[in-house]
Amino acid sequence: MLPDVASPIGIALATSRSTDRSNSTPPAPDVCFTLITRRLRRELAQASCDPASISYTLVTKSPGILPAFPHAFRARFRKVLRERGIAVFAGAAVTRVESGCLFLDGTAPVAADEILWTTQAAPPPWFGQAGLSVDASGFLEVDATLRAVGQSNVFGAGDAIAFCPRALPKSGVYAVRAGPVLADNIRRALTGRALRPFRPQHEALYLVSTGERYAVGARNGLSFEGGWVWRWKDWIDRRFMRKFNALPGMKETRRGPLFTSRGPGRVT
Ligand SMILES: Cc1cc2nc3c(=O)[nH]c(=O)nc-3n(C[C@H](O)[C@H](O)[C@H](O)COP(=O)(O)OP(=O)(O)OC[C@H]3O[C@@H](n4cnc5c(N)ncnc54)[C@H](O)[C@@H]3O)c2cc1C
Repeated sequence: MLPDVASPIGIALATSRSTDRSNSTPPAPDVCFTLITRRLRRELAQASCDPASISYTLVTKSPGILPAFPHAFRARFRKVLRERGIAVFAGAAVTRVESGCLFLDGTAPVAADEILWTTQAAPPPWFGQAGLSVDASGFLEVDATLRAVGQSNVFGAGDAIAFCPRALPKSGVYAVRAGPVLADNIRRALTGRALRPFRPQHEALYLVSTGERYAVGARNGLSFEGGWVWRWKDWIDRRFMRKFNALPGMKETRRGPLFTSRGPGRVT
């Protein structure tokens, strides 16, 4: 539904996120905000309202936008935000929120008719309450085999874990790639075989749409942009989503079930 645009409206996005690389979640809230503003402006224009009647402010505790990304990538997005007239308050921790107002640490409050609040990934509190080993933020600590530290029969993967060998971004890339290792290691644990390590990649490819069939990408510290980046991203995304719609036929297997009424079956 479109807002009533008779009076000027301000929308603020407050992001509550660590600057720690391990907690970056793509696409970052900063990027989502650019997409939201673009969509709102388009819908206002379609409704014959003045898109300039809404002002946008992005408030972030980190010293700048997209702190986990390469310098050139951040610079490209700063330009996008500037072009879209989105004001940025960086290094501004929100200390209090009241209806229509964000109070910031060390600077004047920001008034807004609508406030969107985004946060980083958080673990469920019961990990620690159940006596599992957790890091300072409460994420489940797992070793290189994705087994919970100090446990024989608890495993974890994805956003909920703190991977002890090294900090991993809270990103689908790592969650998806941990899946087959997790499944394999659960089978191995059940059948008394040695567990295998999860070897996550060191760098991931990030392709982020700016909303008009144009995207910005980063890999190995390099940054690039263009219509071709968006088409590349679109191709990758569609290929990924097809896997959920066009399911492959299941092969007949000569292997028995994992469990039989007489105990664990043979798994090769
Ligand atoms: C808006 C957005 C865009 C993103 N875009 C990208 C991207 O482009 N590329 C990328 O790599 N990553 C992206 N990510 C990050 C990515 O989605 C996550 O890293 C990934 O989904 C983590 O997978 P997961 O299985 O660990 O957790 P999730 O996908 O969050 O799955 C956890 C599941 O557990 C369920 N659950 C929670 N508690 C319980 C409970 N008590 N009982 C039962 N079920 C429960 C939840 O409902 C959920 O279905 C994005 C994230 C967001 C929020």
